[in-house]
This record gives sequence, C-alpha cells and structure tokens, in this order.
Amino acid sequence: MSITNNLKEIKKNIPAGVRLIAVSKTHSPEIILEAYNCGQREFAENKVQELGDKVDKLPKDIKWHFIGHLQSNKVKYIAPYVYLIHGVDSLKLLKVIDKEGKKNDRIISVLLQLHIAKEDSKFGLTEDNFFKVIEEYNTGIYQNTKVKGVMGMATFTDDESIVKEEFSNLKRLYDKGKMLIKDVDAFSEISMGMTDDYQIAIEHGSTMVRIGSAIFGNR
Ligand SMILES: *Cc1c(COP(=O)(O)O)cnc(C)c1O
Repeated sequence: MSITNNLKEIKKNIPAGVRLIAVSKTHSPEIILEAYNCGQREFAENKVQELGDKVDKLPKDIKWHFIGHLQSNKVKYIAPYVYLIHGVDSLKLLKVIDKEGKKNDRIISVLLQLHIAKEDSKFGLTEDNFFKVIEEYNTGIYQNTKVKGVMGMATFTDDESIVKEEFSNLKRLYDKGKMLIKDVDAFSEISMGMTDDYQIAIEHGSTMVRIGSAIFGNR
C-alpha cells in the first residue's frame, strides 16, 4: 500500500467535519512530503526536537500539532509556530504556554488532555482537575491561550467495550466542560481516535482523529 492509497482509504471512513491529523513521528521529511503532496496539511509530532527539525525542512503552510507529553521548559521551542497543543494536563503547563504565547505575540490553541484510560501510564487530567483548570481559565487571565477542547487516549486493548466506554466518558466530560467554559464558541474539538480505534472514536463524537500507522505503516 502507498501513502496515497492509505490516505484515500482512511478518508472514505471519515465523515465531513472530522479532521484527519497525520501522525508523522519517526518518519522522515521525505515521507511526510509524500502525504503533503496528496493534499494533507495537518501533521502531528510528539517530540519537540524532532518537530523543530522537520518544520525547517517542510512547507510553511503545514499545521503542526503537538501530541506528546510536553515539558514546561520546552514550550518555548514550539511556541512560535505550533498550531495546536493537544496534551495540556496541568495548570502549570497552561501558564507557561500562555507566557510563551505572550512573548511571541500570538494566541496558542490548546486541548486539555483527560485521563480516560484504565492504565495509569497515560497522562491526563482527572475529572476534578479538568473542572479546576476551566474555572481558572474562566477568570480571563490567560490572554494568549485558547482552550479549544479536549483530548484523550483509550486503553490499549482488543476489548471494544472498554474503548467505547472510555470514549463516551470523554464525550461526557467534553459536554460538561462546554457547559462550564465561558469562551464557549472556541471550545469545539474532541481529539480522540488513532489507527486501531478511530472508527469507534468517530461514533462517539470525535472531531479530530490522530492517525499514524494506517497512513505511514508501522513505526
Ligand atoms: C503515536 C500517536 C498516535 C498515532 O498512533 P497510530 O496507532 O500509529 O495511529 C496518536 N496519538 C498519540 C498521542 C500518539 O502518540
């Protein structure tokens, strides 16, 4: 299978209104360019250094998503150009992003990452902390950050019922967040679904799927 065909196949399964984010981590700029030449414009990386290297080598109209665990001391490297940071899982990180947004004279879009999986290895806010972050954000002090929605990862399992339960839980939390957040119009994204579970994620309200292996092959 070629990247062209893979992208075509996936797009058949994705309704209008759900965005396809191509997860290009570990793949070379040449490979990424192949997907770019098929019209793909949104890509995601999970390492700051690797992302920086690729940005320099690839077309400027790419929207770069950051999907990894982001350390506060590394925000400054991606702040000038990052399109969307998916993994905000603490108030501390939100503060740093806001500060770097200000320095760069831009508003940085973020998603709040929620802990929905059974595994405790996965990062993310608890339900309580999610509401606390929204409360703090509602004070209006974060002028250089825009909270656009939520992100989550389901448990890595063949048991579809677990994945369904976790995705519907993320949707439920998103809905609650939408009731609480003041900047309600901006809050509109649910980033959920990867190669193995994106169809389930779409059934449960995903607006953004993050797909790597189904496009580029195994890493
Ligand atoms: C790697 C990664 C993906 C893509 O995974 P695939 O199974 O290759 O589609 C999606 N989201 C996050 C956060 C990732 O780290």
